[in-house]
Amino acid sequence: MKQIISILLLFALMSPVFGATKPNIIIIFTDDLGYGDLGCYGSPVIRTPNLDRMAAEGLRFTDFYSASEVCTPSRAALLTGRYPIRSGMCSPKRVLFGNSKGGLPPSEITMAEALKAKGYATAHIGKWHLGIYEGSRPMEQGFDHSFGLPYSNDMDARPGLPKGATGSPNPPHDGWNVPLLRDGKVVEQPADQTTLTRRYTEEAVKFIAEKKRGSFFLYFAHTFPHVPMFASPAFKGRSRAGIYGDAVEEIDWSVGQVLDALKKNRIEKNTLVFFTSDNGPWLIMGDQGGSAGLLREGKGSTWEGGMRVPGIAWMPGRIKPGVTTQLAHAMDLFPTALALAGAPAPKGVVLDGIDLTPLLFAAKPLPQRPFFYYRGEAIFACRLGEWKAHFKTQTGYGQPKPDIHEPPLLFHLGRDPSEKRNVAAEHADVITQIQEAVKTHQAGVVPGAPQLD
Ligand code: MG
Repeated sequence: MKQIISILLLFALMSPVFGATKPNIIIIFTDDLGYGDLGCYGSPVIRTPNLDRMAAEGLRFTDFYSASEVCTPSRAALLTGRYPIRSGMCSPKRVLFGNSKGGLPPSEITMAEALKAKGYATAHIGKWHLGIYEGSRPMEQGFDHSFGLPYSNDMDARPGLPKGATGSPNPPHDGWNVPLLRDGKVVEQPADQTTLTRRYTEEAVKFIAEKKRGSFFLYFAHTFPHVPMFASPAFKGRSRAGIYGDAVEEIDWSVGQVLDALKKNRIEKNTLVFFTSDNGPWLIMGDQGGSAGLLREGKGSTWEGGMRVPGIAWMPGRIKPGVTTQLAHAMDLFPTALALAGAPAPKGVVLDGIDLTPLLFAAKPLPQRPFFYYRGEAIFACRLGEWKAHFKTQTGYGQPKPDIHEPPLLFHLGRDPSEKRNVAAEHADVITQIQEAVKTHQAGVVPGAPQLD
């Protein structure tokens, strides 16, 4: 008997090794990757065997959305679980630029802060783009460690950089003076962009090995495939899709390294990995604009191509492999992380997402809820069930003013995923229902102080 008790005690002490710790959470967030850019989402030209395997072993979403059509608001929403209007991280200026004074307000509670309060080790690797001033930076928003770029890799262009260099298949390696930061300090400037994906990955693998005995949250936000496009020598020139495909194939390699590291450290069954993108493909970049597949338009617009993105959840043994057509979005990841950590929702904070664990772990359908497509501070469209109504439309770039639709345009995303056939005239009742949902939502929104102006 005594022997049994001491063995049980030993197991209890060693429980972190055997997965009794709270699940780890890894979010892999790409920049400007389109809905049609992965093998498992139908790309015939970009090879993504690791992501295809992740999808085959996990749950692949057909209807997963980023919270915004551009970068800064999308990231703010992911980390806070809230539409960016609430944090003030959206405006007609669209994203934070070098001369923006604002950033993610310190009063916002990030996923990192909420998980840290439950004892999680937290790390940010990759792009930030949520502010460079005190209070908004990674270490001040709940991350113990941070390694990456403070903003987009095309910002901080060298004076005299030739026009077109940003979208060049061979961009000058010293064309952008973007710094590489470790824990808030510059370690390299300009950052050698050809090595970023590799170095981010090494950092992630190291963090996983170091923290495997506790619980951790890793926010891994890739710099690519955002222009200017770079890939390391091992990947450059390998893809049928040119440098864009090279960059995506290197990210695919990186995903493989992360999943392998989890297996090697025997924590794959206790780690939720979620892969997605911050917005759709930047189509005006031509060959380097990626693909939204059968979806209309891309980055910057509230057509499906701007905001419907790949979404893959992986946790072997917990998530049953499959494909789901349930609507989910980036703001759901915060409540999902809270559920995994056994953490209460932050007090006095309106969250716009829901806990996805019933879907992930028990294949339970999610409740039907409206999804709002914001562009800046305005709602341009709303989806309810299979129906999507557009109140305003505007191409991502190049159209100065939106077209206003009264009555709204209406599409059935099941029968018409490419949004080609407006059926508003036959379904006035659906439009009324969607308009009601918008009204209810807007009545509950208190806009945050604008941060991007
Ligand atoms: Mg982006």
